[in-house]
Amino acid sequence: MLNTVSHDKSVLRDKDSVERMYINGEWIVSTSSKESEVINPANNEVIGRVTQGTAEEVDAAVKSAKEAFYKKGWKTTYARARADYLLKIASKLEERKEEIAMLETLNNGKIFSDSLVDVEDAINQFQYYAGLATKPHGQTYEVPDEIQAMVIREPIGVVAIIVPWNYPLVMAAQKMSAALAAGCTVVVKPSTQTPLTLIRLFEIIDEVGLPNGVANLVLGSGSMVGNELINHPDVEKISFTGGTATGKQIMKDAANTLKKIGLELGGKSPNIVFADADFETAVDYALLGIFAGQGQVCSAGSRLLLEKSIYDKFVPELVSRAKKIKIGPGWDETTEMGPLISKSHLENVLNYVEIGKGEGAELLCGGRQITEGELEKGNFVEPTIFTNTTPDMRIVQEEIFGPVLVIQVFETEEEAIELANGTDFGLAAAVFTNDGAKAQRVIRQLQAGITWINTYHPTFNEAPWSGYKQSGIGGDLGTYGFEEYLYKKQVNIALEVKPSGFYKG
Ligand code: NDP
Repeated sequence: MLNTVSHDKSVLRDKDSVERMYINGEWIVSTSSKESEVINPANNEVIGRVTQGTAEEVDAAVKSAKEAFYKKGWKTTYARARADYLLKIASKLEERKEEIAMLETLNNGKIFSDSLVDVEDAINQFQYYAGLATKPHGQTYEVPDEIQAMVIREPIGVVAIIVPWNYPLVMAAQKMSAALAAGCTVVVKPSTQTPLTLIRLFEIIDEVGLPNGVANLVLGSGSMVGNELINHPDVEKISFTGGTATGKQIMKDAANTLKKIGLELGGKSPNIVFADADFETAVDYALLGIFAGQGQVCSAGSRLLLEKSIYDKFVPELVSRAKKIKIGPGWDETTEMGPLISKSHLENVLNYVEIGKGEGAELLCGGRQITEGELEKGNFVEPTIFTNTTPDMRIVQEEIFGPVLVIQVFETEEEAIELANGTDFGLAAAVFTNDGAKAQRVIRQLQAGITWINTYHPTFNEAPWSGYKQSGIGGDLGTYGFEEYLYKKQVNIALEVKPSGFYKG
């Protein structure tokens, strides 16, 4: 069923206004006078104009972050004061929750209830790291000799935060809240495609009076502004979420100055369903695993690994339910799946459908852009399912990042594990079975940083998020995410002040 209703445009700015960068506490238009258009993916209408930064503005932002860290003393600000700022940001976000969620829906295309969850997550992240700000405890060690050995934690310095278009606000918030709580200062760059909600977050940062230079926002493309940030000598850490290819490039560039890096990258995650699983639950989560967020979710369950004995019962039900998913704009509350982010991404996804057919996989449903009625204007693709796949196919190995599910069939537990681990990625994985011991056994052998048993997708800010293999380095969230922004310094204190006596002359 297709849905089309009008939406709330009141959250958008005046058509003539240009969104600006936030550097050293001031709203700045780029010296380049270049602008980019922001597009609503549900109808491809222009919903905003954004200034495009240059190397000059990146340099100004990094310098102001450096000064705020070293000279203005953010690194030594009492942790409770840092926590207070984060709590104020959280409560202002709470006040503007609906506005920011609607803006995310208009810019990213995700359904409004998902956008609300994103804003709630961001609020929770600022609250969570406000709590942790006062708790980076050091340690002491029992060592021989007349020495007291201990470790103290210190913030790393200026952090460059670069985030993708699929979770614009929440990815930035999780990194910013941890870095600021730890005592770092930040320069943040959103994707050119989805900068709007992050700009609103910086309005809040301005309102709560965070000291100038502590948090800066730069706007512009990855190849220009992102690249300048990565290569800036005064950036001490890069916290990046995005594609694996970009992550590899960032790792190479960061090697020049040996910057600390945190990379959260792509995935091709297996969702393993054993014959003894609860049927209704497994079908439901197979759908949610891939079609939530239109499949534009790094941890999407894009490979369904199905035990052969239930194939004939499972697949017809899966396909029949996939065909009933309600597609439409994210602001329609009956919509279950929204548009893809852009026309060019839609073409990438449809190209993968052709690749799959060419490789000999069988298309069970979908595989086409929706061209009926109002939805023709947007980037809507039908829920798509392929079967008769082999592990070497590109549609099985590569991240499509759209509503495309590939089915792989197995007969034994060993075969399921081998197929599950058989890609370069290692982000997420799930197991559906009513055998508790089997579930635990299989989970322990899966090469993935985020796993589920008898569910798919729920994750919490308290727990770490990180990828195995080519899905990333380091991690976000929880106490582990906080540690990413802290150096550990060893301090050895002589208990008796006297010469070593080593030199005899
Ligand atoms: P990209 O890697 O294309 O872009 C991510 C960000 O990096 C954007 O802000 C982009 O800017 C910027 N960028 C691009 N090139 C460079 C460069 N050379 N130097 C510095 N910055 C650069 O990813 P997408 O935005 O397409 O996001 C989708 C990808 O993100 C998927 O692979 C997905 O799996 C992954 N992802 C991973 C998550 C995880 O937690 N592991 C979570 C969410 C997404 P611009 O867009 O302006 O060019």
